Amino acid sequence: MINRGLLIIISGPSGTGKGTLCKTLLKQNKDLNLSVSMTTRKPRKDEIEGKNYFFVDKATFQNMISNDGFLEYACVFDNYYGTPREYVEKMLSSGKDVILEIDIQGALKVKEKYSEGVFIFILPPSMEELKNRIKKRGSETEESFLKRFKMAYKEINYVSKYNYVVVNDEVKKAVKKLESIIVAEKCRVDRIKDSILLTKEGLLHGQFND
Ligand code: ADP
Ligand code: 5GP
Repeated sequence: MINRGLLIIISGPSGTGKGTLCKTLLKQNKDLNLSVSMTTRKPRKDEIEGKNYFFVDKATFQNMISNDGFLEYACVFDNYYGTPREYVEKMLSSGKDVILEIDIQGALKVKEKYSEGVFIFILPPSMEELKNRIKKRGSETEESFLKRFKMAYKEINYVSKYNYVVVNDEVKKAVKKLESIIVAEKCRVDRIKDSILLTKEGLLHGQFND
């Protein structure tokens, strides 16, 4: 029997470096798959349709909601963001691991349906550094920057709802922690109990290839 893939949720306030960490993680681990979200936000300078997001208008987004096409969706800073359901379910049931890089509201909704997911909260090394990072990214107006920064103060309180917390001080160190979490999760007995590794037959033949 194929083990279901892992659903890995990487979440945390805007500007903590979720996108940066996911990019490095995916580059180094070709077997991980990123779920591309749909959004009504306008593309930033270097963003590519279908790679960073599927950029759509409000009517298209609304249509997806009506057709139950999202695993979760949320309104974040006046724009809608959603995780298309079909891709994630197909990948997981064929044993592939999927990463969702989503906000905290969305992560909590996913937790209601997929409590077996691996929920990881990314923190900045300090709020001062978070401020620098949002500013450095340079994609926000002053109003939008203030919104994101104020919201971050509220959001860090949700860390206790997650399974893991990773402080993104240095990208390399933080990615190493993410990789370690994923490896450990894949070795959990409750995740592999249905695989050939731990069935009577597997134990009888004394072969333990994972
Ligand atoms: P998020 O996806 O959480 O909104 P980004 O990945 O866009 O955050 O990162 C926000 C800014 O911080 C970007 O300019 C990025 O280059 C920078 N950044 C991310 N991680 C680090 C880090 N460990 N050290 C310094 N700068 C970082
Ligand atoms: P940004 O506009 O900076 O790309 O994203 C704003 C926030 O929306 C980030 O915290 C990002 O993780 C989150 N986000 C991106 N895609 C989704 C999604 O599909 N669902 C939810 N709930 N949040 C998302």
